[in-house]
Amino acid sequence: MATIQFDVPECGRFEYNSLTNYITKIKTENSQGQTKQKDCELTSIVWGKSFEEYKKEMNHNLRSLVLQVTRYCNLRCDYCAYSGSFTNMLPHAEKNMSLEVMCQSINFFMQHSDNSEDLVIIFYGGEPLTEFENIVSAVNYAKRFNRNIRFGISSNGVLVNQRVIKWLSENSDVYLTVTINGKKHDLYRRKIDGSGSFKIIFDNLIKIKTSYPDIWQNQIRLISNINSMEEINDLRDFYLKKMKKIPSMISKLNFDFCDESVRKKYFVDQEKENTLLEKFADDYVRTNDPFLSVLYDKGIDMIHNRGLCGENTPGYIGSCMPLSWRLFVRVDGTFNMCEKVTDKLNLGDIKNGYNYTTIEYLYNQLLNFSNNKCRKCWAQRLCLFCFQDFLDENGKLPMSFSEEKCKKMRDDIIFYLKMYIQIISQDPNRLN
Ligand code: SF4
Ligand code: SF4
Repeated sequence: MATIQFDVPECGRFEYNSLTNYITKIKTENSQGQTKQKDCELTSIVWGKSFEEYKKEMNHNLRSLVLQVTRYCNLRCDYCAYSGSFTNMLPHAEKNMSLEVMCQSINFFMQHSDNSEDLVIIFYGGEPLTEFENIVSAVNYAKRFNRNIRFGISSNGVLVNQRVIKWLSENSDVYLTVTINGKKHDLYRRKIDGSGSFKIIFDNLIKIKTSYPDIWQNQIRLISNINSMEEINDLRDFYLKKMKKIPSMISKLNFDFCDESVRKKYFVDQEKENTLLEKFADDYVRTNDPFLSVLYDKGIDMIHNRGLCGENTPGYIGSCMPLSWRLFVRVDGTFNMCEKVTDKLNLGDIKNGYNYTTIEYLYNQLLNFSNNKCRKCWAQRLCLFCFQDFLDENGKLPMSFSEEKCKKMRDDIIFYLKMYIQIISQDPNRLN
């Protein structure tokens, strides 16, 4: 049987069967407190659908359109993927999406989403509010289709002025996502002249919070970046005491594809990080703290909602299929699968439609990769790696995919398996 065994403090020894996805408690006399693993091999790994079926989804099932309305930004965050320090993304430039390309992209989205009820259009940058007038026109244009559309703007918050607030008050179907970090904000997120951006963003947000409580409550989402778990206590204080709002997302900075100087600046001691990660996980298990849930819920959800299956079922690829539900359009009208994947990948454009050759190549590449590598890995049925993690800076999928990344993924899965068991042992109904 293909299993991994692990000890959970105060709960006992457990076994995860990687062929069926079952977790069971086992009896041991002399548990050593170590993770043990036995070899396993899935019969095969498949996509959920054939390429032809995915093609139909690309033509009828789109649900989300992300428009890169500009490559310009009024900030220079040095961890930014567009800072020029990352080899997989084009650096900031004074290039904007024309209103014509925005409307053509919306037409394409409408024509390729007839099976979808609820649609989302996100305005992304650089800093999208530098192109506010075009965003207003694009939203008005999209509303003419009389579909159920929500709109989102991913902003750094610097240009949230009275005109933007008034427009938000007239358009309750638009939400604005603003990144704000607490104490460390100015270390990471600086203006072009090098000065910090915290005060201006904080003041803009507080103005909405005090004068427009409905917009604050329903249309403003806050997100945050951290480099180290050492920042969590301050960040928590900042959000609970100053913002009085829980962030929708806390993401760890990602330095893949980044040059050495930035990497060095943001170096963290991994052992110390792991200790803190476990400490906060213990707090979360004990208290169900809503702030910490932003950090841990995704991992717990991955375990709780895993699909149970028979031993002879194939493994399914965990990544989503490019363009089967989400389309990213760059300023020049070319397509990508999402904003996080290398700029060197070109999956079509609004004039010529999808580039099926490249998309099918990606489909087959990930299939080959999974059958060669993941088929023998105990973590396959729980692994959430996606194209963003697999592709190199040139949009290729190397078979020599980093063992280090896989080890990290497997360590994370064991971490969440343990947390999950602690939570349900303590309160079986908590995850309902
Ligand atoms: S605000 Fe966003 S796009 Fe602008 S530099 Fe910072 S991370 Fe990059
Ligand atoms: S950890 Fe690596 S080898 Fe294992 S399933 Fe995930 S990507 Fe594949």
